Amino acid sequence: MDVFTRRKRSAVMTAVRSTGNRSTEVVLAKALRRHGVKGWRRHLQISLGPGNTRPDFVFLKPRVAVFVDGCFWHCCPVHGTKPASRTDFWLSKLEKNRRRDRRVSAALRRQGWTVVRVWEHSVKRDVDGCVSQIRKSVSP
Ligand SMILES: [Zn+2]
Repeated sequence: MDVFTRRKRSAVMTAVRSTGNRSTEVVLAKALRRHGVKGWRRHLQISLGPGNTRPDFVFLKPRVAVFVDGCFWHCCPVHGTKPASRTDFWLSKLEKNRRRDRRVSAALRRQGWTVVRVWEHSVKRDVDGCVSQIRKSVSP
């Protein structure tokens, strides 16, 4: 049984999404600076024809878009746990996220962008590894 009411659960999940991801992004931003990786901006809006997207980090010149994907919201194979209550509701929400991720990545690639997606858990475990992965995409 879920310890939260529906409304409360919704609020909790929203909080997980915003603060969880934000702190991971900050960790990555600091690591990029520490390693002297320059030329990125946060949350720049990119038009996708229909719709648009705001990658967490954008390198405009080499056209590299970096997304930090939260383990829960983006269904990480390691930590993408299924919520115990309102399972169907959450699964369809998560499936929608997954489809949107794929659609956004494909649309960006069609426009000549290199898309890098790093997992929240990779940032937490091995932020230097994430930085070198990004660096390779930015200056191959
Ligand atoms: Zn994970």
